[in-house]
Amino acid sequence: MSTVLVTGGARGIGAAIAARHTGVGDTVLVTDVDDDGGKRLVEELRSAGAGAAHYVRCDVTSEDDVRAAVAHAEQHLGPLDVVYANAGVVGVTGCLETHSLEDWRRTMDLLLTSVFLTVRESVAVMRPRGCGAIVCTASVAGVRGGLGPHAYTAAKHGVVGLVESVAVEVARYGLRINAVAPGGVVSSLSASLMTGEEDDLQVAYDRLAAASASGMPTTSADVADAAVFLGGPGSSRINGTTLVVDGADYVPSQKGL
Ligand code: NAD
Repeated sequence: MSTVLVTGGARGIGAAIAARHTGVGDTVLVTDVDDDGGKRLVEELRSAGAGAAHYVRCDVTSEDDVRAAVAHAEQHLGPLDVVYANAGVVGVTGCLETHSLEDWRRTMDLLLTSVFLTVRESVAVMRPRGCGAIVCTASVAGVRGGLGPHAYTAAKHGVVGLVESVAVEVARYGLRINAVAPGGVVSSLSASLMTGEEDDLQVAYDRLAAASASGMPTTSADVADAAVFLGGPGSSRINGTTLVVDGADYVPSQKGL
C-alpha cells in the first residue's frame, strides 16, 4: 500500500485523485486551504474507501506550510510514495495591460512557485530513499498558448518546463516526475473562469460538452485516472513527460492548426 499526498485535494481533480488511492487501500493526506471541504472529503473517503484519509491545512504558496505537510505525512502516515502537486486557481484574467504586477506575481505564486515548493520538499524526502513519484497538474494551456489567461498560460508552461528539468536531475536517484495536462474539466475552477461563479457546475458542463470533440466534457475522474497512472508502477519508464488529457478537444490548437 502506498502513502500519498495531494495538494488542493479538497475538491475537483485533487479529490478524485485522493478517492482513487483510498479506493485501493492507500493512505492519503489531503491538503488544501479549504478546511471545511478537506475535512468533509476525508469523512466521505473514510466511509467509502478501503484506505485511510487524513487532512491538514496547507497553503501551497507558503514554504512553511508545504514543508510541514510533507513532514506530517512522513512522521505520521509513512514514507511518501507519491505526491500530487495539484492545487491551482485561475489567477489574473483579462487584457495584458490591465494586469497589475501584484496580480501577476500572486498568480505565479499560486500556480508555479507553489509547484516548485511542493516538488522541492518531496524530492528532499524521496531522494535519500531512492524511490518516489511526483505528478504535477499542468494544463493544455501549459503546452500551447491561446487556451487560457496569459498568466495562467505562462505559469502552466513553467510547470511543464520544471517537470522536464527536474526529471533529468532526479532520474539517477530512482525518482520520477511527470505532469498531466487537462483540457477543460467540469470543476469549480472552470465554472469560475466561464461564469465568475464557482458553483455554476451545470453551466460549465453544458459549455464544455457543447465545445467538446466527443460531445462529453472531461471529468475530474478522467484526469485522476491519468495522474494515478503516472504516479504508479505501470509508468515506471515514463519520466519528465506531460500527458494531455482532453478527449481530443484541443488537438488542433496543440498542433498549431
Ligand atoms: P478546483 O477549484 O475544483 O480545485 C482546486 C483546489 O485547490 C481547491 O480545493 C482549492 O481550495 C485549492 N487551492 C486553491 N488555492 C490554494 C492554495 N493557495 N493552497 C492550497 N490549495 C489551494 O479546480 P480543479 O479543476 O480541480 O483544479 C485542479 C488543478 O487542475 C489546478 O492546478 C488547475 O489549474 C488544473 N486544471 C484544471 C482545469 C479545469 O478545466 N478545471 C484544466 C486544466 C488544468
